[in-house]
Amino acid sequence: MKKFISLFLCVTMIFSMFAVSASAFTAGGECKNGECEYYPTIIIPGLGQSNVWLVDDDGEFVLDSDGNKTAVFPGVIDIGAIIKTAIVPLLLSVATQSDMGFSDAVADIINTIFGINKCDSNAQTSKNVKVEKYPYSLADCTEEEKESPYHHVPLNLHESSFPEDHLYYFSYNSFGNHIDTTNELYDFIHMVMEQTGHDKVIISPISQGGTLSNALFEYHPDIMDCIEKVLYIVPCLDGTTLIGDIFTDKIRLLDPDVLYTGLLSTFFDIETASMIETLVRILPDEVLMAGLEKGVDVLVRDIMTMSTSMWAMCDSASYPEAAEMYLSDRPEIKKQTDKYYKAQLNSSKNIQKLVDKGVEVITVAEYDIQMYGIGESYDKEMADGMIPLASTAMGVHAANVGETLPAGYKQANTSKNCSDPSHNHISPDNVVDASTGLLPDTTFHFDGQKHEQTALNTTILTLALRILENKITDVYSDPAYPQFISCDPYPAPEEGFFTKLSDFLYEYTGTNGFFELPGLAVKSIFQDIKNLFS
Ligand SMILES: [Zn+2]
Ligand SMILES: [Zn+2]
Repeated sequence: MKKFISLFLCVTMIFSMFAVSASAFTAGGECKNGECEYYPTIIIPGLGQSNVWLVDDDGEFVLDSDGNKTAVFPGVIDIGAIIKTAIVPLLLSVATQSDMGFSDAVADIINTIFGINKCDSNAQTSKNVKVEKYPYSLADCTEEEKESPYHHVPLNLHESSFPEDHLYYFSYNSFGNHIDTTNELYDFIHMVMEQTGHDKVIISPISQGGTLSNALFEYHPDIMDCIEKVLYIVPCLDGTTLIGDIFTDKIRLLDPDVLYTGLLSTFFDIETASMIETLVRILPDEVLMAGLEKGVDVLVRDIMTMSTSMWAMCDSASYPEAAEMYLSDRPEIKKQTDKYYKAQLNSSKNIQKLVDKGVEVITVAEYDIQMYGIGESYDKEMADGMIPLASTAMGVHAANVGETLPAGYKQANTSKNCSDPSHNHISPDNVVDASTGLLPDTTFHFDGQKHEQTALNTTILTLALRILENKITDVYSDPAYPQFISCDPYPAPEEGFFTKLSDFLYEYTGTNGFFELPGLAVKSIFQDIKNLFS
């Protein structure tokens, strides 16, 4: 079971962190009808960075035994139901060393947990999910409302002159209908202009949010005249091969050799990996693999590939094959994903249009972290663990992880947006040639930064604030923020199983071991397990 949750978390979990809600923003109040030095800024967050709640058929929140709302990302966990479904088939399968309903139970469990996020054949989400919206600035949010935005994007932890009443958070369902969400974003931008009196805004698409900006510029080109600046943070502009591999059946963990020789140890330290392996090996390989295959099939066929927002994260190179495999009998979904595919292919062209209109476009990218070893392409190109660098840094050329550009390599200067051909755009470690990305002078590269831990990087957060304050406009504005910035290496995990487990959770959730996963209350799972045995 843990494997499926891990797979799903790995695929879906983007950054978040444990944040306190002390605001370091100025009070604002200087802005009269859009006459002030700042532009209203709309954060378009990443995967799972919005509160999406379970509601009943009357639209009322479904509360747990502690009276808390139930989050639906990445799924709804009912540990009692899971154990009830799994226990008999599991024991029978272990006893007989054959598949006595084990694989069917796995499929059932996956469906029970993640089925709430399933879209219908018209690509519409369940009526039983409700997105928490903030149709006003963060300054006008209640303390409770502010919690989630600042938890995921903790800009409030750092000193800034940027006024909080100019900061907006566009929340959305990561599994939702991509076209509907894009249209909502379009309306949201107009709402912000109306509320603040400004005729332009800054948008800041983060990770999955990058797919919404692609769609926005392609479907609503008139919006370009309402954009002052785009601040991309690790944007998923050309999807990720992690999703592309999953959607084209190139999943490594369905091979026992991969599973037992290295895959587990990419997520756990050796000792924990071998402990899990020992537990899992109670089942014969065929039975385990049958279970894995059925579970992954339910997850991919019935849930992920029904969501147009998940499709928007498929890399364009994998899309045609993936669409052939999963969408030939889903015409409405395919119509919508084909439309997005065009937006994805036009991404750089549309960004160039913005640049030509004088819009400032700045990007923060990360590199030197190999992709998590779920798909077969994991070791084929430079990445930040989750998204290839070429996707976040708009086509940039780089060596593979652990390698350098060939000896004597000269920067290619293929971008027409470099303001001075004498710039040196090669990284000091001779890995990235930033002159080949669309925006050499405005793309920051963080060396050794993991995608899902972006929000923990103080330099990235302060850089973002300096950009919103108009103090930094390119990689030459401030020597403290050059084009290439090295991050501290990640510390080795501590000894001891629970410390390791907590390190693992920290790694994937950005929380500091308090068992708080977004949308997945592990604390309550532990409570449920305790209750079952007491
Ligand atoms: Zn203003
Ligand atoms: Zn340049």
